[in-house]
Amino acid sequence: MAMDWDADTVNASTLSSGKNLRASNVTSIAKEGNPIKVVFIVGFTRSGSTLLEHLLSIAPGTVAVGEMAYLWEPEVRNTSYCGCGIKLACCPFWKRILTAQQCLDFEKDRSPETPQFRRFFGDLICRRYSASNPGYRQFLDRIEYIYGAISDQTQGSVIIDSSKRPIFGLAVSRLPGINVTLIHLVRDSRGCAFSWTKRKARLELGQKAFMSRLSAPRAALAWTGKNLQADILRIQRCRHIFLRYEDLVRRPAFEVNKILTQIGLSSISPDANGIFHAPVSHGIWGNPDRWSNSMHAIKVTKDERWVTGLSTRDFAITTLISAPLLKWYGYRLFRSRQG
Ligand SMILES: [Zn+2]
Repeated sequence: MAMDWDADTVNASTLSSGKNLRASNVTSIAKEGNPIKVVFIVGFTRSGSTLLEHLLSIAPGTVAVGEMAYLWEPEVRNTSYCGCGIKLACCPFWKRILTAQQCLDFEKDRSPETPQFRRFFGDLICRRYSASNPGYRQFLDRIEYIYGAISDQTQGSVIIDSSKRPIFGLAVSRLPGINVTLIHLVRDSRGCAFSWTKRKARLELGQKAFMSRLSAPRAALAWTGKNLQADILRIQRCRHIFLRYEDLVRRPAFEVNKILTQIGLSSISPDANGIFHAPVSHGIWGNPDRWSNSMHAIKVTKDERWVTGLSTRDFAITTLISAPLLKWYGYRLFRSRQG
């Protein structure tokens, strides 16, 4: 996969004039009776969500915000860079949105990664406490306020959130002012495991900063857990689209346009050379490839380095752990270039 950003292709219509929002008008669009549309990518990390997010963002009337759930991580808020290349804390887009939240206190708010919030997932599944627990309610309100501010900043654009965390996705699906479409993106567990075992630099955080790594067994367990959670969302009758990474890279325009059609947006297409031109995004966190300066467009190619790169031991362990879901999602269990 290759992708980069061309500043000249910024979709000016997605950014507002720059005036500061007041807290009173943050959710004005939702209050007018038009629910805010959110496309939420759910699943396991290293599954191609950065690619999908930016392909979707080519459609007029969309805005990609990266992994919004990471706003609750102090390290991300204070040290990471926005997709536009500016430090997140200094990015004008996010400054306008976050300064509009006069009562926003991420330190006090419940983090999506705390044990309590994991219990919240169970509570939501069982339809207990979802509306009455003040702690949960406050967290849900925060999410809704931020989506509202993004919507106002972008004249009601469809928000593409690639947070992937099923717990966060379920919370978003319970917000009354939000019309969410969940996209369950799945990649072959062996491809994910291979990616997790490799060292990858996060140059934006310093010369010695790297993306997190997991052993193949741990990656396979996490892959299984996240995808099972994502499947639970389907049982919860959320509006839900299932997409395999391998199908996305084989026919990107077809798969992306299927999604866009379902949410009422116009189609995208590559140029004569098969290049997709994406606007600059203000995405939070995510794959550091989004800052690559060596290319100015997205040339979709299948990343199948794992087919030859994953050791026999790691391949066997990963396959053993994830076999039931691999079969359920239509993957072959044995090593094959067809995936
Ligand atoms: Zn930015």
